[in-house]
Amino acid sequence: MEKKIQVGVLGATGMVGQRYIKLLENHPWFEVSYVAASPRSAGKPYCEAVKNRWLIGAEIPAGVANLIVEDANDEKKALGKCQFVFSALEMGKDEIKALEAAYAAEGIPVVSNASANRWTEDVPMLVPEINYSHLDVIAEQKKHHGWDKGFIAVKPNCSLQTYMMPLHALIQAGYPVKRMIVTTLQATSGAGYPGVASFDMIDNIVPFIGGEEEKTEKECLKILGKVVDGKIENASAPIVSSTCTRVPVVDGHTACVSLEFDLPDDKKPSLEEIERVWTSYKSLPQELNLPSAPEHPIVVRHEENRPQPRRDRETEKGMACVIGRLRPCNVFDVKFVALSHNTKRGAALGGILNAELLKAKGFFL
Ligand code: NAP
Repeated sequence: MEKKIQVGVLGATGMVGQRYIKLLENHPWFEVSYVAASPRSAGKPYCEAVKNRWLIGAEIPAGVANLIVEDANDEKKALGKCQFVFSALEMGKDEIKALEAAYAAEGIPVVSNASANRWTEDVPMLVPEINYSHLDVIAEQKKHHGWDKGFIAVKPNCSLQTYMMPLHALIQAGYPVKRMIVTTLQATSGAGYPGVASFDMIDNIVPFIGGEEEKTEKECLKILGKVVDGKIENASAPIVSSTCTRVPVVDGHTACVSLEFDLPDDKKPSLEEIERVWTSYKSLPQELNLPSAPEHPIVVRHEENRPQPRRDRETEKGMACVIGRLRPCNVFDVKFVALSHNTKRGAALGGILNAELLKAKGFFL
């Protein structure tokens, strides 16, 4: 059996970091050998650092419980202890940007969940089913910085995972989308731990999430963009208008989406054709049989009251986009409700899928 790759988790004590620790417990390719967080947690065994705030199931994985948490701000501490790191840090954007670059400069690739590097021109913002071709910019990134083994690859915002694959599937099938209106109903775990005060969340909806609407409206254009001269050129469509809300759901972001196709009426797809496109959607992660790739990236439900976060978020181990209520829209062309697991597909398991793709394509030297 091939030896597992030793990996580090930066921000290992947080909401997303804990998901990484749990999801990597029996991973066939990767093994957690290094954990790091803020100076508040540094120096403690992992089980002590997360005492009273371990959120993912009953037990902390035995292989990690006694690892000593290091200070994530000191990239040199990771040298020789792991081959690459997942970054799940929550701190100032400029600080994260500088820190992720510091790890890459030390020869440690960074697979990040943070937003700090999403708009860096030569950093791919990956949804492996959609834009695996953006991996091509990594060579340019390394050349530009003079990095030998290190590089940075990032994930998009978690709310986008609810509609990016359905959108991409339609565009790829020859049904370009001109405009989209999206209203998200986002889970509380999306705000980290302890996140939004329970007093604000119980019996309530908060109609604002700082910075989220901008991300929701713009990140899709980079993801749908193409590589030109070693840089990612953004797509020019669709135009997206979004409203992002926080709702009292623990895990699972829901989005209500209306689409307008950029096609004459007689060329617009029927509801049956849209469903056919979605249910037949497969891509490189499925072809490569990556360990975390869902067999069916898009799952369509026909019950009038689905998808629901509690019932549907674990579909395909939390990696599927589950769609329901596909119907005509009186203003645009069609509308639907989509759901994805925000701390799995939208965060840690999505990051792991990125790393699996990078490994399969030979990026971890
Ligand atoms: P979180 O629960 O607040 O965890 C933050 C982590 O960062 C903790 O490990 C914390 O360590 C560490 N940290 C905080 N300040 C630090 C500092 N000054 N130096 C070094 N480490 C520091 O946040 P989260 O929800 O897991 O989110 C982590 C990242 O993933 C964020 O960038 C977020 O935007 C992104 N993200 C989150 C989600 C989601 O659904 N939650 C989805 C997609 C992306 P201590 O425990 O020691 O304080």
